[in-house]
Amino acid sequence: MNKKKSMLPSKFSFSSHNCIKEDENREACPRCGSLNLIQSTNLPGIHWGEVRCSDCGRHLKWLPSPKIEEAHQKRILLIDSLLPVTKGWENFYLKNIRDIRKLSPKQQEKLDQIANRHAQGGAA
Ligand SMILES: [Zn+2]
Repeated sequence: MNKKKSMLPSKFSFSSHNCIKEDENREACPRCGSLNLIQSTNLPGIHWGEVRCSDCGRHLKWLPSPKIEEAHQKRILLIDSLLPVTKGWENFYLKNIRDIRKLSPKQQEKLDQIANRHAQGGAA
């Protein structure tokens, strides 16, 4: 007789509970509860893409361009590295633009200036 042994590591024992990432992204339409959401990415306007309910047509959210997302992530890293070494308006400015997804050319220019100044050893 062999004793019933649990051969599987404990993390596999949650078979009924799917905590997969895809599950978190599963959204339902707030208006009709439909799960038939469609993403379209060929929009005429300024937005890169959107999620829309295919049953009632309700717009759920805008989708950021993956390229912008990537640039934003890089910028956040840069800003986080600059925050401890900046003071005054520069520090204030960096905090202000940190969460902006896409900077205007002017904002980008300012950021570059601050980054350059502090990259060159920070001689003020
Ligand atoms: Zn709907």
